[in-house]
Parts: sequence; structure tokens; C-alpha cells
Amino acid sequence: MENITIKKIGVLTSGGDAPGMNAAIRAVVRAGFYYNLEVFGIYRGYEGMINNDIRKMDSRSIAHVLERGGTFLKSARSEEFKTPEGRKKAYDNLKSNGIDALVVIGGDGSLTGAHLFYKEYGIPAVGLPGTIDNDLFGTDLTIGFDTACNTAIQAIDKIRDTATSHDRLFFIEVMGRDAGFIAINAGIGSAAAAILIPEKKMPVEMLLERLKNREKAKKESNIVIVAEGGKSGGATEIAEKVRKILPTYDIKVTILGHLQRGGAPSAFDRTLASKLGVSAVEGLLHGKYDVMVGVINNKIVFTPIKRAIVDDKKVDEDELRIANILST
Ligand code: ADP
Repeated sequence: MENITIKKIGVLTSGGDAPGMNAAIRAVVRAGFYYNLEVFGIYRGYEGMINNDIRKMDSRSIAHVLERGGTFLKSARSEEFKTPEGRKKAYDNLKSNGIDALVVIGGDGSLTGAHLFYKEYGIPAVGLPGTIDNDLFGTDLTIGFDTACNTAIQAIDKIRDTATSHDRLFFIEVMGRDAGFIAINAGIGSAAAAILIPEKKMPVEMLLERLKNREKAKKESNIVIVAEGGKSGGATEIAEKVRKILPTYDIKVTILGHLQRGGAPSAFDRTLASKLGVSAVEGLLHGKYDVMVGVINNKIVFTPIKRAIVDDKKVDEDELRIANILST
């Protein structure tokens, strides 16, 4: 599709929220003003596009949001946007507000929506990878991942105190949907005894062997990190299996859950979100449509949304090897 003149852009956050989304919105709005665009905030993701919950942004709208967790535009999941009728309503609302282009901040579902919408209605969209899961191809890291790992590590540190005091074995479940990025990172950063991720199966026998070796080595505490999306189940299921084989162990389970999504974004996430927000607006102005903007090897990179959502982002084999060396 040929370049169109863009005067008004809409920005929205969609799907699972992630720390740093506010910093990304702020950067989009500020960059929009810098390039003399009008910027509209679309509330509750695609839900707000369908219900015309769209408000013009000014510099007051984005005051003191950079440092706050969550998303002040709010996020939602919209089943209606998955239907052609829903998307038609959304398109009519964008047109009635005069919005020419979109910046969509969210995970793979949200970017899928933006891609489809571009194909159907030709509304240029740039996607920003906003998810704690880090599961998008086309960027080394996603907005929110670093903060979520920091939060997980802080929580695990606290659990370790009680694990050590009582010689307990803890199974701690972290988020990540069907990806193990948070688990690997939080596991390395908290000296985990083992890290169980969906991408690589670790047989229970191997886990037991590891635990027995650690017992021989007189390790004071054992923390096993379990990613939520494993085929053999989450922390509760794995702990149950181990409890049956090692009945003398004092086994506890903690599911970190939604606390991993909250909190003020880390310095890294604020910077990443800010860079990506400005780059998204610049991308739109340079005719880069239907792409996701990411950072690879410290450089801004635009990847077709289709690739970002379809191509698999692999866990880093070096990180896995390092995690193994450090936990044995
Ligand atoms: P995330 O963006 O965090 O992956 P979801 O997968 O829940 O979260 O997607 C967020 C929203 O994106 C959905 O509620 C829906 O409105 C939209 N979306 C997801 N998949 C599609 C699709 N195939 N077609 C149209 N819209 C979609």
C-alpha cells in the first residue's frame, strides 16, 4: 500500500498489561506532538475502538505516567474485535475521529489484531512489543520483561529466607504463558536448584537426581522455578509428583501470579519503552506499516508483524547451559 499523509494517530494498549506500557504511551504522545501530529488515546484496547472510547491527548494527559506501572489507557481483551462486524465498528469510529494510523502496544494477540485490521481496512499500524513474557520474535526483549524478572527475583529472595530457615524445598511458579524466558532469567538470578521450562522437558528423574546431589553437597535451601505453561503442569503438579517420591522432604508451592505484572517499570523498561514509542511514530511517518518495532543488538529494528507473531523466539541455549552449570 502506498504511503498516506498521517496527521492524526491513535495509541492503545491491549491484552495483558506490562510495566512500561505507560512509558511507551507517553513516548508515542510526545513524539506525535514533536512531529506536529494530533494524538488520540484509545481506552481499553480494541474495546475502546469499538465503543468509541477515544480521547484527544494533551501534554497533561501524560504527566507523571512514565514511572507508573499498569497502563492509564487501560487494557482489555475484546472478543468482538475478532469478528468482522466488530472491526467494521472500530473502523467507522476511527474514521469519524479522523484517525489515520495506529500504534498498538501489546502481545502477539494484539499485534495479530493490528495486522488483520491493516489488511482489511488499510489503517497503517506499528506494533510495540508490550508483554512481560518476552515471547515476540523481532526484539531481544519486550517491554515489561525486565521489571517482571526483577519482581520475581525479589519475591524469590524472600521465599529463600524461609526455605533456608526450615530446610524446605520450594516450587515457585512464574509467569510466561508458554515461554520460559522469565523462568530462566529469574532462575539464574536467584540461584535456583532447577528451572523447568515448556521449551525443554526435564524428566522428574533428572530433577530428583539434582536434588539428591544438592543434599549430598549440603545445600541449605532448594528452590525450583517452574514456568507456568509446561506440558507436565505447573508448580503444584510437579510438586505433587516429587512429594510422592520424596515423602520426607518438606515441600511447599508458591505461585507468584499477577504480582509479576505490577509495579513501577525498571530503568531498563522505561528506556526501552521510550525508544520504541518514539521509533513507532517515526516509523509511521516513514511509511513503515504493519510492522513491529523492536531492539536487536541495541539497534532499532522493524519486523513485519506477521513474522513477529508467527516466527518462534527461541530460548537462548547459552543461558540454559549457564543455568545448568550454576545449579548443579
Ligand atoms: P496479548 O496481546 O497480550 O497476546 P490477547 O491474545 O488476549 O493478548 O489479545 C488481545 C486482544 O487482541 C484480543 O482480545 C483481541 O481483541 C485481539 N486479537 C487477538 N487475536 C486476534 C485475531 N486473531 N483477530 C483479531 N483480533 C485479535
